[in-house]
Amino acid sequence: MTATVHIIGAGLAGLSAALKLSARGARVILHEATAFAGGRCRSYYDASVGMTIDNGNHLLLSGNRAALDYLRSIGAEHRLVGPPTAEFCFFDLASRERWTLRFNNGRLPFWILDPSRRVPGTRALDYLPLARLLWAPPGKAVGEVIACDGLLYRRLVEPLLLAALNIDAPQGSARLAAAIIRETLAAGGRACRPLIAREGLGSTLIEPALVQLQQRGATVRMEHQLRALRFGAERVEALDFGSEAIALDADDAAILTVPPYAAASLVRGLDVPTEFRAIVNAHFRIEPPAGQPPILGVINGTVQWLFAFPGRLSVTISAGDRLIDAPREELAKTIWDEVARVTGLPAALPPWQIVRERRATFSATPVQDSKRPGPATAWRNLVLAGDWTDTGLPATIEGAIRSGNRAAEMIAKQP
Ligand SMILES: Cc1cc2nc3c(=O)[nH]c(=O)nc-3n(C[C@H](O)[C@H](O)[C@H](O)COP(=O)(O)OP(=O)(O)OC[C@H]3O[C@@H](n4cnc5c(N)ncnc54)[C@H](O)[C@@H]3O)c2cc1C
Repeated sequence: MTATVHIIGAGLAGLSAALKLSARGARVILHEATAFAGGRCRSYYDASVGMTIDNGNHLLLSGNRAALDYLRSIGAEHRLVGPPTAEFCFFDLASRERWTLRFNNGRLPFWILDPSRRVPGTRALDYLPLARLLWAPPGKAVGEVIACDGLLYRRLVEPLLLAALNIDAPQGSARLAAAIIRETLAAGGRACRPLIAREGLGSTLIEPALVQLQQRGATVRMEHQLRALRFGAERVEALDFGSEAIALDADDAAILTVPPYAAASLVRGLDVPTEFRAIVNAHFRIEPPAGQPPILGVINGTVQWLFAFPGRLSVTISAGDRLIDAPREELAKTIWDEVARVTGLPAALPPWQIVRERRATFSATPVQDSKRPGPATAWRNLVLAGDWTDTGLPATIEGAIRSGNRAAEMIAKQP
């Protein structure tokens, strides 16, 4: 097995690759450009709200098998919390209706036949066309495969695909939508339990991984940005960090887990996704009212999902590009106005913070999806990972971790 593996980037793809390789006894050195690990999935202390918050609310599902394996391997599975069964609460701001979707555990979707479990106002037959997504021809957008209108679309398909693909659903890749449906709705309620890191992403997904790596003797170098790769004919010969260059011995390898724009600047001729979508999160320091569900889908509002944490309410708005340049205070007021209507809390704006991630994910259109490379490169000791590589999934924690595991597997198999 390869002597030393340098992993560039300490996001979830980098951390998962490092964990897999260090478990096999490889010598691992993780290089991270910033002063913190976690990349797009991180916690930090925010002075405006006076508490530690996440850059964005992250939802996992019980069917995210790689993510749950990852958590088990770092002893942090218990830090994810969620209801014992697959249920999702919704509130429609226009009609003021509330309902709870309750999936049954098995693969046969009996919940669709039960008016008290399915989306109110829909009929069982309305769900049939969704199956078309599962067999959509390659290169199609969701809007070319199913009709993007009607109650079922607005109350289930749109919120599900917006959250999973981070793009207005009609533009989204049908292949990626199908992957989500296959791994969630079609896999039955057992795969659909919503799970959140109630105490924060950092203490759940990141810090325990760093502790584990340290215990295995891996080296983690923060504020150590890779500036260039030095290429030979068949292999990468050195890693250039500006003030320092590290030569790679014949058996050494590197895994590049940086975002696509960074990878393209480091690897000549690499085709990568070039368009992105934003996610906007608003955090409010306030105790959620009694009975507030941990996750609530909001229909017909700017707010899409409302998360309740101890002492804090947080809102997620996917495909939030139209809000990127909106004045911050105005945006906070608009969002809070909706939250107050949903929760019955007073209209006065509590302490708040808005976090706008401009390049939260690559844009999950069919064209951008087709630009995602696999893990192998033209250099035998250089492997790619990251949520933007071709995992068959949209840019998610599950995709990032699967890509890290896949890269580790490739390196481990090298003679
Ligand atoms: C606001 C928001 C909400 C989200 N919500 C969800 C959700 O609900 N569910 C879900 O599953 N997913 C969600 N995601 C997506 C999820 O966060 C990402 O898919 C995942 O974190 C990507 O991990 P990664 O390791 O591939 O990339 P990144 O996290 O981007 O990690 C790349 C790392 O490389 C480092 N780096 C860059 N250049 C260099 C260099 N030259 N040298 C060294 N290091 C470098 C970066 O600093 C970074 O730490 C969300 C993302 C955002 C932003």
